Amino acid sequence: MSPKAPACPVCGEPSVAQTRPFCSPACRDRDLLQWLGEGYRVPGQQTDEASQKNANYGLDSEPD
Ligand SMILES: [Zn+2]
Repeated sequence: MSPKAPACPVCGEPSVAQTRPFCSPACRDRDLLQWLGEGYRVPGQQTDEASQKNANYGLDSEPD
């Protein structure tokens, strides 16, 4: 019995020590995937633009 167990931020179930603060590895993975998904999404456009510039710059300055 551990009434201090915080609620899983993903599904709201009581978290367990092994996967704290999540209730299960599944919720932990889901949260991680959401983070990764947003992380890729938000800077994705900038990264794409920068990548194109970088590609052009790379081709321009490539001493091949
Ligand atoms: Zn959960």
